[in-house]
Amino acid sequence: MNQVGIRKPAAELLRMALPLLMQYGIPPTPRNYAVWYEYVAESNPHLSQAIDDIIADGADFGDEVCARLYNTYLASNKEQEIEALRSELQRVIGESSRHISGATHEAARYQSRLEGHAQRLVRDLDSEKVLRIIDALSTETQAMVKTNSQLQDKLSGMAAELVKLRNELQWVHEELMIDALTGLLNRKGFDQMLEETTREARQQQGQLCMMMIDVDHFKRINDNFGHIVGDEVLRFIAGKMREAVKGRDIVSRYGGEEFSIILPNTPLSGAMHIAEELRRIISTSKLTRKRKNDYQVLDQITVSIGVAWYRKNEEPQDFVHRADRALYHAKHTGRNRVVNGETL
Ligand code: GH3
Ligand code: MG
Ligand code: MG
Repeated sequence: MNQVGIRKPAAELLRMALPLLMQYGIPPTPRNYAVWYEYVAESNPHLSQAIDDIIADGADFGDEVCARLYNTYLASNKEQEIEALRSELQRVIGESSRHISGATHEAARYQSRLEGHAQRLVRDLDSEKVLRIIDALSTETQAMVKTNSQLQDKLSGMAAELVKLRNELQWVHEELMIDALTGLLNRKGFDQMLEETTREARQQQGQLCMMMIDVDHFKRINDNFGHIVGDEVLRFIAGKMREAVKGRDIVSRYGGEEFSIILPNTPLSGAMHIAEELRRIISTSKLTRKRKNDYQVLDQITVSIGVAWYRKNEEPQDFVHRADRALYHAKHTGRNRVVNGETL
């Protein structure tokens, strides 16, 4: 039932939204991501219309316009949203449960399971857990529809509401996968994309590569120039990584000053080429910061990169581990270099 999905898969939507942000020169902040994600998902007609009008007028998507789009069409307190969804779910369950009571033996068992889920909902606020509960409910409801035709109408109404709730919650959930500092996918987003892309590579026999990227001596940048400049440097590097890749490549902030790029349908030679280019661009960039009336040039920024090529049927975590090992090697052989994990 989860496939009755109105929306395209999350990952595809995220991939579709990013090029649009770049095309219109919009900073990929979580809020802007949220707006354009909704746009490509075509799930918010008023928002889509407003964006189409701006495009038709040839106007800029400046900060104010972006903020207005978000505030007008999307803004809401996520916790309140989860809370609202949770009570809505409890209402749907309660209603279905009343319809069912007094019916057949299977229906009675189904009812008690529904009530079990309802009780769990009282305890579980976290969006991921609520998603799992909705999935369990969907499965049970489907099974019940098969075994009891009398209840079919009521249950299919409930099934439709569950799909709707699931889609809404999925959205809340996805927004939490974006790193606020850089606008890249965060670790949670990375984990999900790693699962998806390795599964796809296994099923379609495609070539898949990954880079692990770590900023060299980043601690010194913080120590010499302060954390705020450090944050700016991370944003700068995130921007360079976005520019270096295209199409389906997935850039994430793996943690701290460590990043990852997953490259679907890319042979090892292609990944090595992109990695080397990225390393070169970053190492030759001149970063400055404004000080009173002049500019101070920052120390040279460099990155070390480990590249790995996905081996068929390898566990996703082993793939990450090999990229990490190559990165470690790059660090220990001098930094500011790319190491091909296949040569280790
Ligand atoms: P190496 O070349 O071995 O990677 O050296 P390094 O200094 O980059 O590595 P280390 O792991 O010792 O230090 C990483 C530093 O990154 C420490 C931490 O304070 C800083 N850092 C992590 N996340 C952030 C962030 O979001 N903003 C800023 N400004 N600094 C961060
Ligand atoms: Mg580092
Ligand atoms: Mg590090």
